[in-house]
Amino acid sequence: MSAAPLLRQVFGFDAFRPGQEEIVEAVAAGRDVLAIMPTGGGKSLCYQLPALMRDGLTVVISPLIALMRDQVRALTEAGVAAAALTSGNSEDENAEVIRALNARELRLLYMAPERLASGATVPMLRRAGVRGIAVDEAHCVSQWGHDFRPDYLRVGELRRALDVPLAAFTATADAETREEIVARLFAGAQPQSFLRGFDRPNIHLAFQAKDGPRRQILDFAAARRGQSGIVYCGTRAKTEALAQALNDSGLAATAYHGGMEADSRRQVETRFQREDGLIVVATVAFGMGIDKPDIRWVAHADLPKSIEAYYQEIGRGGRDGGPAETLTLFGPDDIRLRRSQIDEGLAPPERKAADHARLNALLGLAEAPGCRREVLLRYFGEEAGPCGNCDTCDAPPETFDATEAVQKALSAVLRTGQTFGAGHIIDVLTGTMTDRIRQRGHDQLPTFGVGRDLSKPQWQVVIRQMLGRDLIRPDPERHGGLAITLSAHPVLRGEIRITLRHDPAARARPATVIRA
Ligand code: ADP
Ligand code: ZN
Repeated sequence: MSAAPLLRQVFGFDAFRPGQEEIVEAVAAGRDVLAIMPTGGGKSLCYQLPALMRDGLTVVISPLIALMRDQVRALTEAGVAAAALTSGNSEDENAEVIRALNARELRLLYMAPERLASGATVPMLRRAGVRGIAVDEAHCVSQWGHDFRPDYLRVGELRRALDVPLAAFTATADAETREEIVARLFAGAQPQSFLRGFDRPNIHLAFQAKDGPRRQILDFAAARRGQSGIVYCGTRAKTEALAQALNDSGLAATAYHGGMEADSRRQVETRFQREDGLIVVATVAFGMGIDKPDIRWVAHADLPKSIEAYYQEIGRGGRDGGPAETLTLFGPDDIRLRRSQIDEGLAPPERKAADHARLNALLGLAEAPGCRREVLLRYFGEEAGPCGNCDTCDAPPETFDATEAVQKALSAVLRTGQTFGAGHIIDVLTGTMTDRIRQRGHDQLPTFGVGRDLSKPQWQVVIRQMLGRDLIRPDPERHGGLAITLSAHPVLRGEIRITLRHDPAARARPATVIRA
């Protein structure tokens, strides 16, 4: 099976992280590989995924029993035949692993390097049909480092004995360590090496809350007339409507989505490749296999799926190293839609929780009060300082202490029974008399009208950021009515304070407070 569907089905990810795809391809192609990635960058996927792309068994050498256990558990839950052979297992457990190994049932076998000291291990692995070796924390083979593990020296022998490709992974990047890894694990043969920072400093990063999204995209595109650009949309219908709107305003644009005939899709690809200044308005189906170096801008008309997807999509800009600009729009509807997509999906509860957490990370980036690149790179494990090439570096956003406002909103959500959407909650807060308020008697609530100090647009900004902080979520059991989450409890108890961004768009408008 190829990489992308496995990434989705087995691991539940919608996009590769920076660097992963190239490494996966090299490992799956059977090359010797040395990959240096920061901690938390997603190294394990780079050997787990290729292990499933080829037949037979991949042996993973890893120094920590706890880590092996975690990975084996996660893989087993995802339906992958994986096991660990460690001194932490009982005799029975190890006997079962060896049985499965001899029966060639396993796809991944984790093992501590100490196991290699036993004379029985190599012959056993030889019988088991090993197709590749992966070495986690490969710097443990270096005598200069603090983590030297003498038994790692046996990994090089294992590679020779089995005569299979080896992929070594580490977060330690200094040249000396790398040389030692190459000498000791690959016997001096040059592996294909991957050492690359994730930063794409030529890409300008910017987010805006939706405030007339069509106009925002049209303005952004019009200011870049004559430059090639991509607009990503959440739905197929929207790609066509927006391409039409761009055409109507005199810009050359064409739609692209998975529902189009293969021929028409290819035509768009070729046109985009050849023509200067064409705008492709597309779903995420557009991009793989697009190799145009001078894409000058990428816009998201809807919030992308995850930080990984965002990075991949904006990364299509400025491949030639020249400046590229990006604009990502997001709004409360995006957040609600993504939350319900996750909740209503068929994934097991742990995966849903992980998906919510990934969405939270993306929203944290969207509402970041500081440098966006710093947030982005940190998410991938890379340390960074303010970049000077993002909207928040250009103009640091104003923030305000929103603790009281958030408490009021949470209390309005609770007192109305956690069954209403943002519109009704804002009516309650601003003391707006509507039919629904009257029917439900919500004008009798103590929270009715306690939020008159903020305008409706300002409350929308607060509610959006509360959704982004995961303080409230649409509850699928109650038709998407807003419910408070566990993370809201300390706010209600007054244990933590909440700082939010001012949204210039919301402040520019006149306050629309309606007195009851
Ligand atoms: P490392 O070994 O490099 O420190 P891990 O392999 O443990 O990092 O991965 C770090 C985290 O990143 C894990 O929680 C993993 O689930 C997550 N992760 C890895 N690849 C992806 C991806 N393509 N999309 C989303 N999350 C990912
Ligand atoms: Zn910045």
